[in-house]
Amino acid sequence: HPHVAATSERRSGRLRLGIMGGTFDPIHHGHLVAASEVATEFALDEVIFVPTGQPWQKAGREVAPAEHRYLLTVVATAANPRFTVSRVDIDRGGATYTIDTLRDFRRMYPDAELFFITGADAMAQIMSWKNVDELWELAHFVSVTRPGYISEDFGRTNEISLMEIPAMAISSTDCRERVRAEKPVWYLVPDGVVQYIAKHRLYQADSAEPAR
Ligand code: ATP
Ligand code: MG
Repeated sequence: HPHVAATSERRSGRLRLGIMGGTFDPIHHGHLVAASEVATEFALDEVIFVPTGQPWQKAGREVAPAEHRYLLTVVATAANPRFTVSRVDIDRGGATYTIDTLRDFRRMYPDAELFFITGADAMAQIMSWKNVDELWELAHFVSVTRPGYISEDFGRTNEISLMEIPAMAISSTDCRERVRAEKPVWYLVPDGVVQYIAKHRLYQADSAEPAR
């Protein structure tokens, strides 16, 4: 049972670190529930949220500036003592590749056990890479369920754990579209995120240029 294993690992003193990568444009309760559920199930000491570096665009659209996505993530996680935010992917610059993120964390925490947390959609993308085998020695992967996506079993039970979490039919894309259409994002994202978006006029239809 994972809890038993986790407890004995902890006694042996090895830090158990979750890594939650994402664009977080903006961060929402789907991300937070995923991190919280995996943290409990795998007895993680900490989950580090890692906003991606700035791609010039993602799927043909502008992505909010990294500093805004970083601060949104800080605001959303500030109250949880086990949640932190890392700038590694932002400071590396350019588009983010999970292999680089994991290599950096391996370097920073050579003795820790790393758990990379993804939704089912992101896991499927990762599995489609050609250099995917490099990932397994760097971290254990936890693929959580996400409404609208199939949680595929890739036949890699030692490397990837599939975990069912409460279904949160929330996406950043939907949150951005809601703000643009002047529909509420209350209760889909933390209150501080609602307020930060309004304060900096992110995602709004009438912002003539991308928010800085
Ligand atoms: P976008 O619509 O811009 O792609 P997103 O909601 O998919 O945003 P990302 O920042 O792309 O959010 O996702 C970061 C990670 O969180 C990915 O591994 C993704 O699968 C996972 N994730 C996002 N939303 C959910 C959710 N509602 N339930 C479970 N996992 C989620
Ligand atoms: Mg996504």
